[in-house]
Amino acid sequence: MTEDCQLKKILAGTHAMIDIGAYGDNIRWLRERAEGRDLMAIVKANAYGHGAVECAREAITAGASALGVARIDEALDLRRNGIEAPVLVIGPPNAAQVSEAIRESISLTASTEQSIDAIAAAASQLKTPATVHLKIDTGLHRYGALPELATILAKRLDEEPMIELEGIYTHFSSADEEDQEPTQAQVALLHQTIDQIKSAGIDVRYIHFANSAAILTGIFNGSNMVRAGIACYGLNPSDEVPVPSDLRPVLSLRSVINRRFVLPAGESVSYNRTYIATEDQQAADIPIGYADGIERHLSNRGWFIHDGQRCPILGRICMDQTVVGVPEDAREGDNVLIFGDGAHGEMTVDEVGRLSETNTYEPVVRLAARVPRIYVRNGEVESWSKSLLGIRETLSS
Ligand SMILES: *Cc1c(COP(=O)(O)O)cnc(C)c1O
Repeated sequence: MTEDCQLKKILAGTHAMIDIGAYGDNIRWLRERAEGRDLMAIVKANAYGHGAVECAREAITAGASALGVARIDEALDLRRNGIEAPVLVIGPPNAAQVSEAIRESISLTASTEQSIDAIAAAASQLKTPATVHLKIDTGLHRYGALPELATILAKRLDEEPMIELEGIYTHFSSADEEDQEPTQAQVALLHQTIDQIKSAGIDVRYIHFANSAAILTGIFNGSNMVRAGIACYGLNPSDEVPVPSDLRPVLSLRSVINRRFVLPAGESVSYNRTYIATEDQQAADIPIGYADGIERHLSNRGWFIHDGQRCPILGRICMDQTVVGVPEDAREGDNVLIFGDGAHGEMTVDEVGRLSETNTYEPVVRLAARVPRIYVRNGEVESWSKSLLGIRETLSS
C-alpha cells in the first residue's frame, strides 16, 4: 500500500516516534492527581515538539476540557485542523490578530486596558462575543495585571457587553523548586485579589494557576482548572520536581546509519578537529544535526544507541549530520536511537538537558519541522506527519 511505503521511507531516515497512547494516559493520570479538576492541556510550541494537532485531539479524548497555546496562530492551526474544543491563548495577544481569534471562538488573555480595548472593539465589529481570561501577575513579573489594578480590569471586562469574563489566572515563577514558599505566596496573593474581585460582585467560571510542577506537588487548592504541559509529555518539570514513574516519556528521536567507515588513527572528525582518533576507530555518519533540533552542546559529550550499545558522539555536531563511534557489527541502514525513555541505554531528555545545560523542555521543543513524526499506540503505528511538506496521514487499520 502506498501509505505503508511512505511509512517505510520515513522509518529509513531521521524521525521522531510519539507514543500518543502514553500521552493520553499521562493526561488521565494528571487529571486524577488534580482530583478531577478541569485540565487544560498546554499544546503550545507544536505541543512541545510532539505535534499540536495530534496531541490536542488525544488530550480531548483523554478528558482534557480545554487546550492552551501561546500565540493566536497556534490556536488557528488547531481550528484549521478541525479541533473545536475550547482553546485559550495564554500569551499576550497580538492586537492585530484579535479579530481572527474571536471569529474562530478562540479565548484570549487580557491583562491591560489596551488589550481589553482591542478585544472589545473587534468583538463589537464582528458582532461576536469574545471569551476572555484575566491574567494577574502575582510574582513572575513577565506580564499580567498587577493585583492593585485587577479589580478595575475585572469590572471593565464584566461590564463590556461583547466580552465574557470566563477565567482568572496567574502563573508561577518557582513551582518546580523544592521550596514551595514563593509559590504559596503567589497563591495567597491571587486569592486575596480574587476576593476583592468577588466582593465587587463579579463571578467567574474558572480560576487556574497550577502548571505541571504544581499539579505534582499538589498546589491546586482554590482552583478548578489546572494547566498541564511538560508532565503530559512524561518529562520532569525539574530535578527537584520529577514526574513519578506512572508517567511515561512520550517521544523518542531516531535515525539511521548513513555511512559506515573507519577513521584512521590520528585523523580528526568534523569541523575544527575537536576529536582526534587515537587508534583506528569504527565510525558512522548519522543524518541528524542541530538543524533537526539536537543541541550542538552534545558534541563530544552525548551518545546515540545502536543495538543497545553506546555510540559516543565524535567531534562537533554539524547542522545536518553527526559522526559517532560504533561497534564493529554496525551496518549502513541500521537504526540508531538518539534519545528516548532510556530503556535501551539511550540518553533521556533529562540527560540531554543536563549535558546541554538546559531544561527538559528545550530538547523536545527544538525538534525541527523537517523531522517527520510517527504516532504509535500500543506499539502500532496510527498516523504520521511531515509538517515541512504539510502532510498528515492516518493509517487505516
Ligand atoms: C507553558 C505554560 C504552562 C505549562 O507549564 P508546564 O511547566 O509545561 O506544565 C502553564 N501555564 C502557562 C501560562 C504557560 O505559559
